[in-house]
Amino acid sequence: MGNTFLTPGHDNIACLLSNDGRYTVSALRTLIDSRQNVTVTPNQVNWLRSVPSKILCFVWRAAMGRIPTAVALRKRGMTDIITSCSACIDGEEDSDHILANCNFSREVINLILQWCGLNNKVFLKVEDILAHAHAFGNSKNMNKRMTVICYGLLWGLWHHRNARLFKNAFTHPYFVAESIKVNVYFWLNHRGKGSVGDWEN
Ligand SMILES: [Zn+2]
Repeated sequence: MGNTFLTPGHDNIACLLSNDGRYTVSALRTLIDSRQNVTVTPNQVNWLRSVPSKILCFVWRAAMGRIPTAVALRKRGMTDIITSCSACIDGEEDSDHILANCNFSREVINLILQWCGLNNKVFLKVEDILAHAHAFGNSKNMNKRMTVICYGLLWGLWHHRNARLFKNAFTHPYFVAESIKVNVYFWLNHRGKGSVGDWEN
């Protein structure tokens, strides 16, 4: 309060994050990104309107390794938690394993790549999947579609991991891939500009 001086006139509040004093979510996000010791650049998470906000936030957090995996929860103090992966039992369940490196995830990823007419590919990290989407295609449209597909893929893997853990529902990779295709088709057809055609095509 010692630095506060009262002067005549209207009160004025200015946000220090932007030059014009206006508060914007993107200004805050830029500040958060700049303070995090992570390798994700703003280009790697594309805040597309076609993808629901909840999923975009999930992808952003997953890219930083900030989703509540077993390994992350143990680091936060839950020492009695089992950290082995619920799909392969072999690996430690961190975000890169559950969303990219697990054998179960690789099978789903390859089914999605085959659906796109692409060859199988090995991704070791979430960041690799985002980089693949970011660099894909010769046109903005192709790049956008691949980005939506990759975000749908990450969300689908997480969604089915939760179903495995909390509902005891183990879904075969084929059906996980099918549900991802349906989600992606729905987003592109009903949230994006224009239609991507009917389901058969
Ligand atoms: Zn696994």
